[in-house]
Amino acid sequence: MMLHVTRSPASVMPCIGPASLAFVFLLGLATSGVLNGAQQPAAASLQLGTAVADITPPVGYRMSGYFYERLSTGVLNPLRAKALVLSQGKEKFAWVFCDLVGVPKELTDQIRDEAAGATAIPREQIFIAATHTHTGPLYFGPLRDYFHEAATQRAGADPQEKSDYAASLRQKLVQAIQQASSSATPVEIHAGTAQQEGLSFNRRYVMRDGSVRTNPGKLNPDIARPAGPIDPQVGLLQFRRGGKPSAGVAVFGLHCDTTGGTEFAADYPFFLHRELQKQFSDDYLSAFGAGTCGDVNHLDLSTNRPQKSFQESERIGTTLAATVVKALSELPPIEQPSLAAVSKTVATPLQHYSEQEIHAARGKLPKVGTRELPVLEQVAAVKIVGIGDYGTETRAMDVQAFRLSGTVALVALPGELFAELGLAIKQKSPFAMTLVVELANDYPGYIPTRRAFAEGGYEPTNSKVAPGGGELLVDAAIELLHSLKKK
Ligand SMILES: [Zn+2]
Repeated sequence: MMLHVTRSPASVMPCIGPASLAFVFLLGLATSGVLNGAQQPAAASLQLGTAVADITPPVGYRMSGYFYERLSTGVLNPLRAKALVLSQGKEKFAWVFCDLVGVPKELTDQIRDEAAGATAIPREQIFIAATHTHTGPLYFGPLRDYFHEAATQRAGADPQEKSDYAASLRQKLVQAIQQASSSATPVEIHAGTAQQEGLSFNRRYVMRDGSVRTNPGKLNPDIARPAGPIDPQVGLLQFRRGGKPSAGVAVFGLHCDTTGGTEFAADYPFFLHRELQKQFSDDYLSAFGAGTCGDVNHLDLSTNRPQKSFQESERIGTTLAATVVKALSELPPIEQPSLAAVSKTVATPLQHYSEQEIHAARGKLPKVGTRELPVLEQVAAVKIVGIGDYGTETRAMDVQAFRLSGTVALVALPGELFAELGLAIKQKSPFAMTLVVELANDYPGYIPTRRAFAEGGYEPTNSKVAPGGGELLVDAAIELLHSLKKK
């Protein structure tokens, strides 16, 4: 979720290039490597089944992503859920990638339980992840509940919710997992990484006065430097049948908030999918996993390029696609896949607010989206109500680690993690290549670093977790990866 605030451009170009390039260079050194895994003797063959569901809501449904009531007026491109079921012998995983801003635990728990019952895939080996598109439906959370209840009180029924979107999503995702599970056929798998420069920018900046601000405005002369890194690595998996590419997963850390407006859209991953279909075939399935990008977006503050539009989204998606297509042509095969998975539920501490504070925050919801309350107070009010709705001191967050081979693994975890946290997992992972997918199974909001909590600003204000929660998730992921390596 991101603030939607218009700012006037300042006049002098800030010097932010060199620092970003330094991060890119360091990351480049850390992420090269040969990925042909060889840990176990020849085992059962690898199989993949896939399914795609259209999850576009009816036009008129509220949209997510910003702090005001936004009603959809059309569909730019469809929202989809893409299910991949991978199996080898008795090991079976289900990964589902949805064109949504997030997926709440209350819903994914049900989907994972039902899908596990229907397919015999262990629920711990199923994840439902969101791409974080900001042009999808607002179907859960304090703002949705407030708008929905206010509309129901006004009109006796909510005209924006003529159908139960969450219920239909649940049904479609369970069906997609079942369908993917029952359609598995042998595949070869290829894995590797690409470097994507120039599209992603850490959106928190240290200003000349020492404060830290999120997106302080294009060409702002008071910017000193970015406050954190980006991760330019694109993690890639591709599945081929008899040498012919049939499906792939790309993981990249860049907020899916490049389109804006009031029409449903899957944001830049739509164009990645389109370009890969042009390259391979019309039924090629391109799944997109959000890398850790809580503090990373596409706004290059050193230019005056328009901020959000269909064209900007298409430019980003096709640029990323060109990088991906080139890397896929050279992607090495995993010679000996050895699937395994482990997971852990981390009782992640939440920030504490008293009953009175939660009550007061609830009272501010009618002012959200108006000019009657400073923006950060609006953000804090929604966050505090969200913590009140959880009704617990900690949030049970599932961290999952999947092994594909002796050198390739994938981690899935909830929330919008800062880039630095994902980088820490990759750097400390015992696997040569580790994909890190965020926004899996729950949407507890931003998960900043301890340092960012101390610096303050938009994302920490909009975070429900207590400082240190992100580092706990990172530690759990690293522990899981080490246990997978030994398995
Ligand atoms: Zn976000």
